[in-house]
Amino acid sequence: MPPADASFAVGSFVDHHCHGLVRREVDRAEFELLLNEGSGAGPLGTSAFDSMIGLAVRRWCAPILELPELCDADAYLARRTELGAGEVDRRFLGAAQISDFIVDIGFVPEPISTPNELASLGGGRAHRIVRLEGIGQQLLRDGTPAEAFATAFRDALLESGAVGAKSIAAYRVGLQLAAEKPDDRSLIEALARQAPDDSGAFRIADPVLNSWMAWAAIEVGLPLQFHVGYGDADVDLHRCDPLLLSPFLRSTQEREIPVLLLHNYPFHRQAAYLAQVFDHVFCDLSLAVHNTGALSRRLVAEVLELVPFGKLLYASDAFGLAELYYLGSLLFRRGLDASLTDLVAAGEMGADDARHLVDLVGRRNAYRVYSLDGVVPVSGDRGRA
Ligand SMILES: [Zn+2]
Repeated sequence: MPPADASFAVGSFVDHHCHGLVRREVDRAEFELLLNEGSGAGPLGTSAFDSMIGLAVRRWCAPILELPELCDADAYLARRTELGAGEVDRRFLGAAQISDFIVDIGFVPEPISTPNELASLGGGRAHRIVRLEGIGQQLLRDGTPAEAFATAFRDALLESGAVGAKSIAAYRVGLQLAAEKPDDRSLIEALARQAPDDSGAFRIADPVLNSWMAWAAIEVGLPLQFHVGYGDADVDLHRCDPLLLSPFLRSTQEREIPVLLLHNYPFHRQAAYLAQVFDHVFCDLSLAVHNTGALSRRLVAEVLELVPFGKLLYASDAFGLAELYYLGSLLFRRGLDASLTDLVAAGEMGADDARHLVDLVGRRNAYRVYSLDGVVPVSGDRGRA
């Protein structure tokens, strides 16, 4: 449900980047582990509840479980267990007010909900995003000959049924991707460098190959998401500044395929700049919003400084815990409302302007970028068959 004092940020939103739910009961240690990007529950004697996101769970999630605001963490988790995972998931997914879940199906560290299960819990529609590295690694594992790799890769993208592709180059080689598509010879040489681990699995972390796959997605015409900035300890954050993508963005702009910069924190101002200067670039704040809790309203204000309103999208980047789908939506709406209410009160924008911005950011930009079914492109849209 929207915040009780919401003025503008109302109605259903599209969540353009999220993952599946862990659908089993979790104990306190597991809950804390899933709450943020840290790798340990209570590292060195601390608690994930002692943070802005911990406060946000106690402040905003407790009432959904019929608990008083800011109840203590143990009471919260006891009530969660009492209700059971199924009921907890239904409550938070329903309260998130999401019409469309665009789900990254490439991160499955344990059994999680399918996109359809997630969407049915939330009363919305499911759409899928495929990971470029996942496709490439599967082709290598299948023993695809190097000469057949390019065609097989494109076919796999086209046959995936996904509304977009995602690159995790940031996790593998950083974002300094090639400004030109690597040629066939470079591709074949790069494929020859790949070697499986003991289980036979491949892990593509090769500047040529990661670049080639990003270019392949653009050529196929799929909207291309990039992990940018904030992530877990596997990411070298200094290689995830989206400004490193500038040469790639400059040389792909004329293709007019949307490139979506995900997360971005603490580079959200850089991402907003790129969204302004490159026609095909879009950005979001996703998990930075729920991780910064009530202070996320500052992030929302900062991204709004430069980003054209037609270039910002909503995403939760929720994974695992039902609370995160709800908190992402609630806190992003509260952040938007805080900025818009101030601007309208100051006479810097009209109420209709504020509602128009919310319509773009919460829904219409995602409909347009991903050509979601049942949506008539607005006038001036490029459209995509
Ligand atoms: Zn994600």
